[in-house]
Amino acid sequence: MGTLNPLRFVDSHCHLSFPELQAQLPQVLQAMAAAGVARALCICTTLEEFEAVHALALQHPQLWATVGVHPDNEGVREPTLQDLLERVALPRVVGIGETGLDYFRLNGRSTGDMAWQRQRFRVHVRAARQAGLPLIVHTREAAADTLAILAEEGQGQVRGVFHCFTETQAVAEAALALGFHISFSGILTFRNAQALRDVATWVPLERCLIETDSPYLAPVPYRGKTNNPSYVPWVAQQLAALKGLPVSAVAAATTRNFEQLFGLKPLHDSVENDHEAL
Ligand SMILES: [Zn+2]
Ligand SMILES: [Zn+2]
Repeated sequence: MGTLNPLRFVDSHCHLSFPELQAQLPQVLQAMAAAGVARALCICTTLEEFEAVHALALQHPQLWATVGVHPDNEGVREPTLQDLLERVALPRVVGIGETGLDYFRLNGRSTGDMAWQRQRFRVHVRAARQAGLPLIVHTREAAADTLAILAEEGQGQVRGVFHCFTETQAVAEAALALGFHISFSGILTFRNAQALRDVATWVPLERCLIETDSPYLAPVPYRGKTNNPSYVPWVAQQLAALKGLPVSAVAAATTRNFEQLFGLKPLHDSVENDHEAL
């Protein structure tokens, strides 16, 4: 991915407000530009964090922001519909999430005890429906409930993305049927992820996004290191190999899919020339 390479990638899900990335932001932005990662979506996980996420998008033209409260976050401010709608109306906030259900860390509770998570998720889906903006969905060991709530609260009017997808083909089919995109992370490159590679091979390219979920889940060959958006081309490369396509086709399709889903203007040739002049 050299400097003369015209490929442009988008990281559809990263956490640049987290300390390990915020602390080295200038280097991260420079690495993104060098790797052809033209845009990244900074994902919010608490209302307390929102201002920092939003500031990134206000200060850097290649970054956008979301508002939402992650299902794993307990002891944080519980978002009301109004909290979400107010923030999503601000400039450069283009989606609602991340939100969803996570039954992986029950900490001794049953799924029945997680009604608070389902209620929080419903508030996010309602906000996405009212705002007409895409939803960034996190689901882990909770696919059936996630799909049921999306169908019930979304009323066929909510679109978005199942991020960092690790579920089965049946779940992917159900998500696609609801009108959602599927986003693949560095997990796609992990040695033990053959089942996920089989799903990715099957998902139509026009419904695929790519992401880092950085600072976590760095793709091979950086596995175990701090991840950052400049590594998203490695996810694209893996997806391209699975689909028997050149990486340029996957870069172009996932960038276009992202722009269409989040309502962003396509990057113009002048921007590309600017990048090449760097
Ligand atoms: Zn997540
Ligand atoms: Zn995330």
